[in-house]
Amino acid sequence: MTTQATGAATGTATRTGIDAVAARARELLPAAGVITDRAQLRTYECDGLAHYRVTPALVVVPEDAAQLAAIVRTCAEHGVPFVARGSGTGLSGGALPHAEGVLVVTSRMRAITDVRRADQRAVVEPGVINLDVTRAATPHGYYYAPDPSSQQICSIGGNVAENSGGAHCLKYGFTTNHVLGADFVTPQGDTVALGGAAPDSPGYDLLGAVVGSEGTLGVVTSTTVRLVRLPEEVRTILVGFETTDQAGAATSAIISAGIVPAAIEMMDALAIEAAEAAVHCNYPDGAGAVLVIELDGAAVEVEQEYAEVARLCEENGSFEQRLATDPAERALIWKGRKSAFAAVGRISPDYIVQDGVIPRTALPEVLKAIADLSRESGVRVANVFHAGDGNLHPLVLFDDAVEGAGDAAEKVSGAILDLCIEHGGSITGEHGVGMDKAKYMPRMYTDDDLDTMQLVRCAFDPQNISNPGKVFPTPRLCGEVPGRKKAAHPLQQAGLAEVF
Ligand SMILES: Cc1cc2nc3c(=O)[nH]c(=O)nc-3n(C[C@H](O)[C@H](O)[C@H](O)COP(=O)(O)OP(=O)(O)OC[C@H]3O[C@@H](n4cnc5c(N)ncnc54)[C@H](O)[C@@H]3O)c2cc1C
Repeated sequence: MTTQATGAATGTATRTGIDAVAARARELLPAAGVITDRAQLRTYECDGLAHYRVTPALVVVPEDAAQLAAIVRTCAEHGVPFVARGSGTGLSGGALPHAEGVLVVTSRMRAITDVRRADQRAVVEPGVINLDVTRAATPHGYYYAPDPSSQQICSIGGNVAENSGGAHCLKYGFTTNHVLGADFVTPQGDTVALGGAAPDSPGYDLLGAVVGSEGTLGVVTSTTVRLVRLPEEVRTILVGFETTDQAGAATSAIISAGIVPAAIEMMDALAIEAAEAAVHCNYPDGAGAVLVIELDGAAVEVEQEYAEVARLCEENGSFEQRLATDPAERALIWKGRKSAFAAVGRISPDYIVQDGVIPRTALPEVLKAIADLSRESGVRVANVFHAGDGNLHPLVLFDDAVEGAGDAAEKVSGAILDLCIEHGGSITGEHGVGMDKAKYMPRMYTDDDLDTMQLVRCAFDPQNISNPGKVFPTPRLCGEVPGRKKAAHPLQQAGLAEVF
């Protein structure tokens, strides 16, 4: 595997600029919030995608939105690139620092400033940990529905930037469906309010553009999130199958029957082996696949759905079904699933967590093709994923100490994304494009598509200083004519848009 540095985005990011930002940050922040020591800087050199590493020139840890805006403004004045970072759990290298830039860490902005029961809303700072929103809302009878498996550590700012999903997004929707408004610092350092308390605002949906923009349009400093009422009844069922085909067929049968469970998660034999080794979750012996199915809602409805789900699983070949009878058993079932990524470390020294999405009905075919790829290449692949959404997370296992093993794993990983595209899916389901998948964007989009996206980016960030080098395959300067084709974008030719 290679260690790469993001290319210099502006060419104007000089030591003087960094020094100016550091000086401004020292005026604003306590000494501990301005990090320049090389050894300390290195602790921020990667996110959850640890094979890309870049040491930032400067790390700042603001304590409030005004400080953050002032730091971004100083970056803009000096043309210094900056990268926002929440908890650094991203799996696509989105928070990978810029070697000549500033890393703006939101971990000291962790206030939940308001929980409004009557409105079913909470207002939270960007560094707030996802699970803490639910902890704050639970006494009011509510919770925050989007629940990445990293929910104990990832931040709401990171969730907004990645449009994060999670097990319960099948029924309740992704982050974008739960964000009503945001305070947002533009790459020029101005603070604007996007969205708001009203259900709809006139004009362009700029909040919609920011959610999922991976820090390339600016920095979120406060978010108003929707809260969901705690259900009257929750049933969690662990179902064992001999094959992933059977588990996939059961998933399709449940959805076809008009039932939308709160979650349907699938793990294959290798993922089960890893989870058992790590957290002893006591999944069914000899299972080639398990489904974790959760039903929630009114008790009478859940009762009826449960009977139907049990029948459909049996019809599709389940050999064991286990209904959690108490919170401890429910927690153990989820522990197996939620710790699966980390657990894979028990069976392989290195692995790539891939993230692609396919139509749910293509699951059996794609899983079979992944198994074929694995057999042909000799690279082991464990599957653990949100089956209900068709959101795959193949874990491609390798040993970096073995010559060429990393490259072979990366090849298999890329081939899996090709499979997703071929089956009408996408190269990312919920982990974003970041640094890692920028090179795959042209497999999904035409040059014109990518240029159109760049025009949006340029409208927000004409200097190209907000998380440059991420998402798009060729870092371009705003004002620079795209390199791959000579003509201007059709929108420009028609006089409808301008590249700054
Ligand atoms: C074990 C594990 C399980 C995971 N499971 C899931 C899962 O089920 N579903 C899922 O969707 N993801 C999952 N992830 C991925 C990751 O947790 C999410 O992408 C999460 O949203 C990242 O949040 P973070 O605070 O760590 O962000 P970071 O990693 O710090 O940053 C992620 C991106 O957001 C940008 N960003 C951060 N804060 C801001 C801000 N305030 N304003 C603007 N941009 C910002 C960064 O620049 C970067 O591009 C998992 C990760 C791990 C390690």
